[in-house]
Formats: sequence, C-alpha cells, structure tokens
Amino acid sequence: MSVLDRKLDGVKTAAILGHVHPDGDCIGSCLGLLNYLEAAYPQVEVTVYLEEPAAKFGYLNGFDQIQTIFAQDVSFDLCICLDCSDKARLGEGEGILSLAKDSICIDHHVTNTGYAGENVVEADASSTCEVLYGLLDEDKITKEIAECLYTGIIHDTGVFKYSATSARTMQIAGKLMETGIDFTSIIDGSFYRKTYLQNQILGRALFESVTFLDGKCIFSVVRLKDMKFYGVTNKDLDGIIDQLRVTEGVECAIFLYEIEAQIFKVSLRSNTDLNVAKIAGYFGGGGHVKAAGCTMSGSIYDVINNLSGHIEKQMNELAAKKAECPELTKAADVKED
Ligand code: AMP
Ligand code: MN
Ligand code: MN
Repeated sequence: MSVLDRKLDGVKTAAILGHVHPDGDCIGSCLGLLNYLEAAYPQVEVTVYLEEPAAKFGYLNGFDQIQTIFAQDVSFDLCICLDCSDKARLGEGEGILSLAKDSICIDHHVTNTGYAGENVVEADASSTCEVLYGLLDEDKITKEIAECLYTGIIHDTGVFKYSATSARTMQIAGKLMETGIDFTSIIDGSFYRKTYLQNQILGRALFESVTFLDGKCIFSVVRLKDMKFYGVTNKDLDGIIDQLRVTEGVECAIFLYEIEAQIFKVSLRSNTDLNVAKIAGYFGGGGHVKAAGCTMSGSIYDVINNLSGHIEKQMNELAAKKAECPELTKAADVKED
C-alpha cells in the first residue's frame, strides 16, 4: 500500500491540481492519476483543475474532463498536487488546496517547498509521471493511463535524452509500452510536430539570438508584438530554449518571452555544473539544477544584465573550484521539468 493509497482511504471527493502553464509532465500526471482513480477508486469523485491545456494533448483520455474554471468555496476531502514545486505555482488552485481537508503533493522539483500535508518529492526522478508510477499498482495501469504517463516522461526527458533519464525511467517506459501505446505518434504528435507559425517564431528567435560571455551564454527574446505579428501565444514557444541550449560552445541558455510590458517569463538551461535553479531561485523562481525558470521585470537589457551577473559569478566560482581540484569532471546534459 503506497502513501497515496493511505491518503485515499475514506475519501469521497478529490481534486487534482498541477502548475500554472501546464506542460506535458503536468498534464500527463494529472490525467494519468484521474484515469487510475476512476478505475481503481470508483467510489471517489475526482475533478482535475488546470489552466487551459495545449490542444496537442487532446489525445489523452480525460482531456475533455479538465476543468479550467476553478471551484470556489468547495472543501474537497483530498487535494492532490502534481508537478508543482510551491503553492504560488498552483495559481488559482491555491484556493482549492487551502480549503481541502487533506493534501498530498507528488513532485520531482529540487526546489519543492513541502507545502502539502504529505509530500512525495523525488528530485532525482525524471518526471512527476515517474514518481507517480512508483505509487500506483502496476497491474492496474491500462493503456489509457500508460499514454498519459509516457507523455509526461517524454516531455520532461526531451524524449529520453536529458541527464535525469535513468535506467529506471527506461524500465518504466518499457512497462508502459507493453500496454500497447502508439509511442511513435505520441512522440511526434505531442513533442516534435510544429505548426508552420510555430516554426516561423522558432526560426525568428534563433535568428535574433545573441551570444555573450565569450559564447558561453546565449539568449533570445520574443516580445508581445512578435507573438501578435505571428498570431501565436506562449504555448507556441516550446522548443526554442532546447534549440538555443544545443548551440555549440554554449554553457547556459536563456529564453525570455514578454508576459506584459516589461515583464518577462525567463527560462534557463545549463549544460555544465552551473546551477540555474539557484539563479532562478534568487529571482523568485525555481526548478531543477539544469532547467529552471522565473519571472523578471524591467527592460530586456536589465533582465539580461541581472542574470548575466549571477551566471558569471557562478562560472568564476566553478572555474576556481576546478583549478583547486582538477579531477572534477564536468557534467554534461540537462534535466528538465
Ligand atoms: P521552463 O523554463 O518554464 O520550461 O521551466 C523549467 C523548470 O523550472 C520547470 O521545472 C518549471 O516547473 C520550473 N519553473 C519555471 N518557472 C518557474 C517559476 N516561476 N517558479 C518556480 N519554478 C519554475
Ligand atoms: Mn515535471
Ligand atoms: Mn512541469
């Protein structure tokens, strides 16, 4: 019996919540759990609340059941928070958590604040879907549940390539494949496929990218007026940071998009021991050591200048450490979401 089973004992109503701007791992874990509870705990009335999810995840069973208008003044017996490192990132879901009789958080963010009644946080896991898999009864994992969990795993591992991908990740993926999922179309359809406009904005962001700190850093920005020009939203910007990150010689990649005038969503990626969770944390955000994010205000120049100060300082500290202890090897690759 897992901690999740214990928490579900006697529960009649449960709410499932994820983080703001839900990504593949967030949506996959929320719907994977919804499908599991519907099958294994039919006596529990389950509702998933998420901000508007991207249409490309529409193939997941339960997608149409996602509620984007959050309940007010409802006290659920259990609130289950997935892939969310802190209360504030629950967005409107924070109200549901605060009224719930009991709560559990299932996550893999190193910056998780332990805000729920029970917190299952495995910072080494590739994804929340991987952590969740460990709490479920393997025999009850249907093809529909497997599609959800597999989706989350491929999104948070960049299709099994980021450094958080482990032998266990691959074993779980193998088990999920055994249920008969169409992994090719899941990977192409939800991860690689881009619309023409998404390709155009990606091309433009790469074309306008700028390197600094001797080519060790790269940044690019998409402004609101660019999004308007191409007719895209922030959901169409997936993958830009990944392409910036694999630029030869780059140790740290930064991608900004404008949320409103002079307010930017910041994505940070590291290819070395540079700890971007620390930098994002300094600016009120969080994430993982090699993939993190925050929101910053000011001009683009101010934002980059502030970030670059922290990046350069950490790079100098790491270089000094390496000079003292040359056998320290550099860790390549990235862990995400
Ligand atoms: P992103 O760059 O948005 O793909 O995010 C990379 C990682 O950092 C993900 O694990 C996010 O959950 C986390 N993250 C992004 N933005 C924030 C934030 N403002 N606060 C805390 N964590 C964040
Ligand atoms: Mn995740
Ligand atoms: Mn996520």
